[in-house]
Amino acid sequence: MKFKYVLGIDFGGSGIKGAPVDTKKGVLLEKRFRLPTPNPATPSDVANVIHDVVEHFNWVGPVGLAFPAVVQNGIIRTAANIDKSWIGVNASELIGERIGLETYVVNDADAAGMAEMKFGAGKGKKGSVFLITIGTGIGTVLFSKRKLIPNTEFGHIYLDNGVDAELMTSNAVRKREKLSWDEWGKRLDTYLHEMERLLWPELIIIGGGISKRPNDYLDFLTIETDYTIAKLKNDAGIIGAALAAKANRKQS
Ligand code: BGC
Repeated sequence: MKFKYVLGIDFGGSGIKGAPVDTKKGVLLEKRFRLPTPNPATPSDVANVIHDVVEHFNWVGPVGLAFPAVVQNGIIRTAANIDKSWIGVNASELIGERIGLETYVVNDADAAGMAEMKFGAGKGKKGSVFLITIGTGIGTVLFSKRKLIPNTEFGHIYLDNGVDAELMTSNAVRKREKLSWDEWGKRLDTYLHEMERLLWPELIIIGGGISKRPNDYLDFLTIETDYTIAKLKNDAGIIGAALAAKANRKQS
């Protein structure tokens, strides 16, 4: 089977969206298709929605799925924002069997990072790059000399007040607590200072849903590290899932 074209699917907190991806060019071949994430997002309900996304495109090729949790060899290990019944499930097998297609599952931040490094804000960057995706949760990915360290979960570090960073700084929290941009921007700044202190990256890329409106909060950042906004915006997960599936095929 040809791996130039892969159906990339991004399982997010509010929507499950997908599109066929040209993995050589890093572009979507068709308009993305989005369905709401089921609530609760149980394995069988999510598999059904993914099935509908695959059917929408009449897709018969390989599928890459960006998943909002730690994924080791297809198995889901954590469930911060998804139904807890996912833990221990082999998502590659479950989804693959439901849709009848070869399916590769990857952490969503790792997927977004791969896409940004290849086609977006990290293109050509060789030093250590830290990318965060800020949406329902906080996803993180770290690259050194363009090599990815999988499944980093720095979105869950404990801040000075003893609270999980994601519960202070995600975009969902900003909306839920009705924070002003000023209030939320300062929280983001606190979090990034902590990551700067711990990781000393040469570049921080800010991605996820929040990358759509950088002008609202960038003024509040006082970190010394260079930072930039992700370029692929909402398509990073879809493109990266396709890239990850392709890379996995090459290795196996
Ligand atoms: C999860 C990560 C995920 C991130 C973004 C976090 O709650 O623990 O695995 O990458 O949300 O979806």
